[in-house]
Amino acid sequence: MSTTSAPVRTAAVPPRRATLRRATLRRATLRGATLHRIVLHGVTAAVARLDQPGPHGRASDATTLRAAAGRFVSHPRPPVLMGVVAGLAAVRLARGRFGRTDAVVAVSMAAAQPFVEWAVHRGILHARPGSRAGAVCYRIAGWGHEQHHRDPTNMDTMFVRPQEVLDVGAVALVVALSGPPPAATAALCTGLGLLAYDWTHFLIHTGYRPRGRVYRRIWRNHRLHHFRNERYWLGVTSNIGDVLLGTNPPRDAVPVSPTAAYAHLPAG
Ligand SMILES: [Zn+2]
Ligand SMILES: [Zn+2]
Repeated sequence: MSTTSAPVRTAAVPPRRATLRRATLRRATLRGATLHRIVLHGVTAAVARLDQPGPHGRASDATTLRAAAGRFVSHPRPPVLMGVVAGLAAVRLARGRFGRTDAVVAVSMAAAQPFVEWAVHRGILHARPGSRAGAVCYRIAGWGHEQHHRDPTNMDTMFVRPQEVLDVGAVALVVALSGPPPAATAALCTGLGLLAYDWTHFLIHTGYRPRGRVYRRIWRNHRLHHFRNERYWLGVTSNIGDVLLGTNPPRDAVPVSPTAAYAHLPAG
């Protein structure tokens, strides 16, 4: 093996050529920024068209599973999430066979879901604008969740908004395409988790009455969250987070919150 390296070319670019190169680079950057602005503008306009304000009616009008599924897919918001999940599934399939690591990733993410729901519900959806972080969370999601608590069956304020779905979806897509295949599995699981949350939450607010024991429990807990005390019963797709984190008391063990009918966690 040779110990000498190839002679390094030193930058002997004439000043005029260097200036031209910088100008070309600047023009390319400006073109890129303009393109980025145009794409962003187009996406924002498309999202605004997708996210029609309504009125979209009441979830409580659907009294069967079939009717609930029909309302879910005909509302403008859930199909955006379903499209993103389908895209992530296609990317994962294109990345090759599933292995043991994929199974570990999928099981781990399913196990984390109750705690993620719990933390997001308590820390972001019920954030208050009393601090800087609280104000940011309130603007992003707290205000919307407050409207949901004020009128729980109103489908105008139901579901994750397309803007957030597309933001999370874009990050998930980059991860799915640039990371190893298990990263694509994780991205897909994120989308599926969000879809499971959106569907379950909607179904709880429909007029469909639970039959199974597991669904009856989460149905009852979410209603207690709305109408008894918003500090408790924070899980939606399961109550594991509440059981393990101490927010699953018997109904009569906590007082009726003064804002239980509609709004935020009480101060303090
Ligand atoms: Zn709700
Ligand atoms: Zn809530």
